[in-house]
Amino acid sequence: MPASKKDYYEILGVPRNASQEEIKKAYRRLARKYHPDFNKDPEAQEKFKEINEAYQVLSDPEKRRLYDQYGHDAFVAQQGGNSYQDFGTPFGDLGEILEEMVRNFGFSDIFGRATRERRRTTRRPVKGEDIYYTVEISLEEAFSGTTVSIPLVREISCDVCGGEGYDPSKGSRICPTCGGSGFVAQRVAFINISQTCPTCGGEGVLREPCSKCGGKGTVSVREEIKVRIPPGVDNGSKVLVEGKGHAGMYGGPPGDLYILIKVRPHRVFERRGDHLYVDVNLKFSEAVLGTELEIPTLSGERVRVKVPAGVREGEVIRVEGHGMPRLRGSGRGDLMVRVHIDVPKLSLLDRLWGDGKRLKDLLQELDKLLPEPKRLVERET
Ligand SMILES: [Zn+2]
Ligand SMILES: [Zn+2]
Repeated sequence: MPASKKDYYEILGVPRNASQEEIKKAYRRLARKYHPDFNKDPEAQEKFKEINEAYQVLSDPEKRRLYDQYGHDAFVAQQGGNSYQDFGTPFGDLGEILEEMVRNFGFSDIFGRATRERRRTTRRPVKGEDIYYTVEISLEEAFSGTTVSIPLVREISCDVCGGEGYDPSKGSRICPTCGGSGFVAQRVAFINISQTCPTCGGEGVLREPCSKCGGKGTVSVREEIKVRIPPGVDNGSKVLVEGKGHAGMYGGPPGDLYILIKVRPHRVFERRGDHLYVDVNLKFSEAVLGTELEIPTLSGERVRVKVPAGVREGEVIRVEGHGMPRLRGSGRGDLMVRVHIDVPKLSLLDRLWGDGKRLKDLLQELDKLLPEPKRLVERET
């Protein structure tokens, strides 16, 4: 044993009265720093041996007691050599600690698998963001259903790195800022505060960012998708397209696409729920005598509507089954024909056709024949 052999406590950087916990902590920190797999410095290997040797002794209460009493001589006499492999079960403890390090800190290379597993287990899968897209359609399209083309721009998982954000072929290295712990200590007003490492974001390792996505794990794609809009949709209806939102994170599923429907107002039809309202004008005589009308519908067919004699202004005639298709359930709503009584302007008739005079005479005669109405309309109480 060379006389210059360093003190085990010095090697681990702990005081002579350090607890087992402190020794273990110091060892882990140094082992991470000098492990030859991660530290390419030629001196690192020697340093690593030294650290392990010191740890094998100081972590064993009996060996530590001997060392405290006799120094390095305690072991020269018994075992000889100075390789850490000479101490006790050589790799048992080290192996266990390395495994633990892999579990806790996510090392690279052969440990890459463990690293990803750790990422999966410690970071919960997050569902991707939903995308909302508004589509304006006509009432006819809402009636019969339609197919819309949506120009989507969305984030999908990067195919080069599989969403991990780093290049798996380039491996990783221990973060130089935090030495792999993922934390940095900062001294603020005489208190040491542990913070997430700003360099590695708490990962403890640095990885070469993926050349395609730049580390984001997702890439933006533009795609045109066709979506079937079912018959019966209304203003504010949402059509769900599952999985067409942005990519999820940490193995989470993608978000969804919601298509918000806006229905343009129609020239003649007004929609109320599943019913369609249409307003029609009747001649005074038609209202009195009754008539039959032909009304267009959204299906394209025309329906005949019987207007009873004596229909009054604002009355609604219901035509069953000619309204909007029901989005939920089957069948259709009704067509509601609301009547209005057209009052001719004689001066206008005169100017257009020149026979206002004759109509006026007839009406004056009719006026004598019509019964006097009850002047004051009584309110329903
Ligand atoms: Zn990528
Ligand atoms: Zn770091």
